[in-house]
Amino acid sequence: MPSTPSYPTKDDAVQRVKDAADIVELIGEHVSLKKAGTNYKGLCPFHAEKTPSFTVNPQRGSFHCFGCSEGGDVFSFYMKYHNVTFPEALQNLARRYNIALPEKPMSHQDQARARRKAGILELLERAAGLYHNLLLNEGEGSDARRYLTQREIPHEISRTFRLGYAPDSWDFLTRQLSGPEELELAAEAGLIVKKERGGYYDRFRKRLLCPIFNLAGQVAGFSGRILGDGQPKYLNSPESPAFDKSRLLFGLYQNREAIRSQGRCLLVEGNFDLLALNARGVNYGAAPLGTALTSQQVRALKGYAEEVVILFDGDSAGLKAAMRAVPIFLAEEVLARVVLLPAGHDPDTFVRQLGREKMEEQLATAVPLTDFVYNTLVERYGSGLEGKTKIGAELRTMLSGLTGHQLQQSVFVAHFSKKLGISPEQLLSGKGAASVPPPGHPPGQPDRELPLKQKQLLEFLIIFPEYLQKFLEAGIEVMITSTFGRNILQHLREVNLLESGQQERLLDLAVGPEKTFISRLLTASPAYSAEEREQTAVEQLNWLRNCRIKIMHGQLTKQINEAQKSGDVDRCMQLIEQKKALDHSSNISLSGPATTHAGEKS
Ligand SMILES: [Zn+2]
Repeated sequence: MPSTPSYPTKDDAVQRVKDAADIVELIGEHVSLKKAGTNYKGLCPFHAEKTPSFTVNPQRGSFHCFGCSEGGDVFSFYMKYHNVTFPEALQNLARRYNIALPEKPMSHQDQARARRKAGILELLERAAGLYHNLLLNEGEGSDARRYLTQREIPHEISRTFRLGYAPDSWDFLTRQLSGPEELELAAEAGLIVKKERGGYYDRFRKRLLCPIFNLAGQVAGFSGRILGDGQPKYLNSPESPAFDKSRLLFGLYQNREAIRSQGRCLLVEGNFDLLALNARGVNYGAAPLGTALTSQQVRALKGYAEEVVILFDGDSAGLKAAMRAVPIFLAEEVLARVVLLPAGHDPDTFVRQLGREKMEEQLATAVPLTDFVYNTLVERYGSGLEGKTKIGAELRTMLSGLTGHQLQQSVFVAHFSKKLGISPEQLLSGKGAASVPPPGHPPGQPDRELPLKQKQLLEFLIIFPEYLQKFLEAGIEVMITSTFGRNILQHLREVNLLESGQQERLLDLAVGPEKTFISRLLTASPAYSAEEREQTAVEQLNWLRNCRIKIMHGQLTKQINEAQKSGDVDRCMQLIEQKKALDHSSNISLSGPATTHAGEKS
């Protein structure tokens, strides 16, 4: 960074960035903005919405969202959108607008962190260049070039996506690095792996590499496919300060303009599906990085497209993925549709054999995601009484993914109960009769921010504190995330009531909104019959166990991936056994009438 003789202060630099930055242009790179009077409007990237309440004021250099109250200047936007600290935002924006920074704009800690991340990005960039050059020009890259020719990926696509080749060598990249600091940084970037007995070796070997770009156009990591036989077939960079898999999508950076002008984004499973589509001119796709779709990814897409079209293989276990995606799209309020390709085809083979026009025809047949899921469930279980019970159970599992999104929960329940021809209460309870309605709360109370499911759990415990021990054993503490809820749980533990009838003691401990919550509930608690009470307790406990299993499942999957990447076969097998045991125990604990796993594809 060039230092100027006048040594600008940090405030100077901040002001100069503000003066230089065009906030409409900066935000417009990520949010589709339309002029509205003197302002610009678009869909807020920070909360789920369908009508634009996100407003940018170019005169004042500010933005504000009337939906979620997020607002501020170019810095606030940059920090929040790119998930970086203020010093990082200042550094990046100053570089972008060519503004000199004072010598010490950051705390030592921030400086060190920013330096590490910048160093990692630099190494990733260097590696991408080396791998790319090898693929395009060197003799060692000939196998990879042949492979691309086989898959009909033209050179121009290799260049656009900066594809690369990691040769069949343990130290191709390691040799290019010098000094312990650089080696350590490269290991943190996931490019090389530290050996137990000292030294390093290349992580990516004999692989065709797709660099994954972040939305600032920097290489954040790689996804590599093995050439020939070998395991694993696909290998991604591990998580690092630069690589957050849950936020990134392959191809989004390269295709962002086309996605924006189309107003829709195709979601495909594999990197080669995406490359094949691009090679045929269908250039508005993106691919999650081998993991289930996350809400952060959907949120990133939302900045470019109003609609997402999910392309499933005709014969893949697409339904499971589709079901998992329903709550995410609903919660983010993004329109999602599904295209099912003819059996035996994936997007890659389909577009290669039948071409772009046939693909576009196929895309025109997309059905709404919710309809797709419903129809597939009816096909599977039938629409008789028993079928409806099973469908209801599957739907309730999906519904648990919408915790904290009350409006979307109601939309979901209304939509599917109508389809099933039952009442919303029947769908929710899984029983023939309507369940007990929760006690009514006047709007505008502080407990409004408590997610619905957490609220239901706490309400039940306040009315029936004798269940506290069982709920604790089932893991309620992990699920209660708000301070408000945690306080109430703490009061319940302190009072430790073994039977109902003395809940007033809770009021002595609680203050403020918690006190209001408890007292209102105690004055107007709903009447439960003994049977209803037991039934509700079983349902809540099942839900808790289910959630805990999901969390453990996620953790194990992550550990297995890590073990796989580091080549630790023993640990990997051990973890896979643990996961099997967990799956087994979860099938047992979920085998009640509320959930069924019958017929589920794996
Ligand atoms: Zn907002």
